[in-house]
Amino acid sequence: MAKHQFQTEIGQLLKLMTHSLYSNKEIFIRELVSNASDALDKFNYLSLTDEKFKEEAWSGKITIKLDKEDGSLTIGDNGIGMNEQDLMDHLGTIAKSGTKAFMENLTGDAKKDSNLIGQFGVGFYSVFMVADKVDVISKKAGEEQAYMFSTDGTGEYEVKPVTKESHGTVIYIKLKEDEKEFLDKWRTQEVVKKYSNHIAYPIMLNYEDVEYEGEGEDKKEKKVQKSEQINAATALWTLPKSELKKEDYIEFYKTIGHDSEEPLTYLHNKVEGAQEFTTLFYIPKTAPMDMYRADYTPGVKLYVKRVFITDDDKELLPPYLRFVRGIIDSEDLPLNVSRELLQENKILANIKQNSTKKILQAIKKLKGEDADTFVAQYNRVIKEGIYTDYINKELLLDIVKYKSSAQEGLVGLEEYISRGDSEKKEIYYIVGEDEKVLRNSPLLEAYKKANIEVLIMDDKEVDNIVTPMIGSYKEWTLKDITTIDAPDSKTEEEKEEVAKEFKPLTDKIKEALGDAVKEVKTTTRLTTSPSCVIKDPSDPMAGMAAMFAQMGQEVPETPLILEINPEHEMIKKLDGLEDKALFDDLSWILLDAAKLSEGLEPKDKGAFASRVASLATKAI
Ligand code: ADP
Repeated sequence: MAKHQFQTEIGQLLKLMTHSLYSNKEIFIRELVSNASDALDKFNYLSLTDEKFKEEAWSGKITIKLDKEDGSLTIGDNGIGMNEQDLMDHLGTIAKSGTKAFMENLTGDAKKDSNLIGQFGVGFYSVFMVADKVDVISKKAGEEQAYMFSTDGTGEYEVKPVTKESHGTVIYIKLKEDEKEFLDKWRTQEVVKKYSNHIAYPIMLNYEDVEYEGEGEDKKEKKVQKSEQINAATALWTLPKSELKKEDYIEFYKTIGHDSEEPLTYLHNKVEGAQEFTTLFYIPKTAPMDMYRADYTPGVKLYVKRVFITDDDKELLPPYLRFVRGIIDSEDLPLNVSRELLQENKILANIKQNSTKKILQAIKKLKGEDADTFVAQYNRVIKEGIYTDYINKELLLDIVKYKSSAQEGLVGLEEYISRGDSEKKEIYYIVGEDEKVLRNSPLLEAYKKANIEVLIMDDKEVDNIVTPMIGSYKEWTLKDITTIDAPDSKTEEEKEEVAKEFKPLTDKIKEALGDAVKEVKTTTRLTTSPSCVIKDPSDPMAGMAAMFAQMGQEVPETPLILEINPEHEMIKKLDGLEDKALFDDLSWILLDAAKLSEGLEPKDKGAFASRVASLATKAI
């Protein structure tokens, strides 16, 4: 008999499970039934593809036994089973980033936290919300020896050989004193119906019932064992839409999505013709916690003619749709399709393309609050899609949203162009790190004055790379306002006149600043600020910065152009200033202050600070 320590994280998790996650205990049934169903799926596949198992007359089934006298609930399946190593690997350790990520994401809100249990593949441990002691008796298909894994959930477990006739797993749960409600037939039946009605295998409930014999005085109580099937046992996605209600879809989602929340939306499609397949997809209301982890768990399961093939293929949908949960069931793929070759499979490629379109169309249809929820959760992965999925670019651009100078909240491109200048057909935007800095940027002044909307893109890391890729939307060209001329009502001649008039001043400032700027010129871009900096639009590097950043390389510095506002008090006074040292200091301040207000840093912060201090002293 071998005793083992649980991996440290599991120890922590168990403590947590038993002490904190008490608000939604019933989900342990959902988790164990879901594991049993997976084990049945795996054996089902073997029985159809592996010579060794083809002979066996098998029909998968899950059995739940309630024993009031013993105070125990037992969940059994005749699936693939586990051997000694599997028991230790799968139940004694958490292979994936599971627990750690789980622990990091705990909110302290018991309800939300218990919602995370399933998401992190720690479903089995939810049993310790209700159990004093658990024995897992299992025999792996094709092996002789069965094993029992036992633990009371306090830090140690034990594995020993036992006898068990057929392959599969039986989980014996000794319920805690105050969790006996799950021994009530109606209670357990209710939970199974709620979460597992459309598990593809029958779930049998075995329980003790009382019957009466005889009449009148002779009437006697008699205990009888009963067994009845308590779920519908039809793979939900195989049913016609017309037979399914919204609640059916939602309940099924809760099981396969391991989520207690309702999904944002779902789509169920049966495609017939040259190729036949059924898809059922869900968009979760809250983005999966591991969405930005490299080792995220894919959410879509692949079936072939209702036989489960894999739930670990990240290529079934494009990676940017990794938050989607659901099922793909193909009629055309061979059952023994090599999992390694799935990627290159033409049939799957076609399903992927079709599914991606359908999912994006469903997202596009979201309205009001749902649309807002979607964007709040997934805007960033949609941008990832814009960058990677050229075929669906238009659809993705219909979905993505941005902040805007025209209003609070987010604006779609469609909405933007509906109120833009339909002759010019230009979409203006500015990218930066900080929304506040962007909103107050001097570069926006002329646009505000001319009442032109500018999209405020404050997810710099992503927007800097993705936005230049967009190019245009419905024939409207996207324009980075830091690289173009500002809108104004002045004619070219008028502008040239001003430039000429101020040439001695701009030359003098350029001389003071030397190589720090490429050029100094007058602008009509500004109203309240004395100066701003723009990227040199003629510099080929300007548009490439994003590319360098994406390749993980240092972004080469692009030369800046300093623009001054000839209408501004400070500029007017500067024009007649005699004191050369003061003139130089003020020139530097014009440059550094402009940089700061656009979220850039002065080259020499110390010098900037001492100039400000010395000027302040003079002013006093
Ligand atoms: P998850 O199911 O999300 O992977 P669990 O903690 O619920 O996480 O289960 C861990 C692993 O234990 C499963 O992935 C599976 O390999 C194995 N397992 C659990 N229950 C069973 C079962 N009834 N039959 C066979 N294997 C099982």
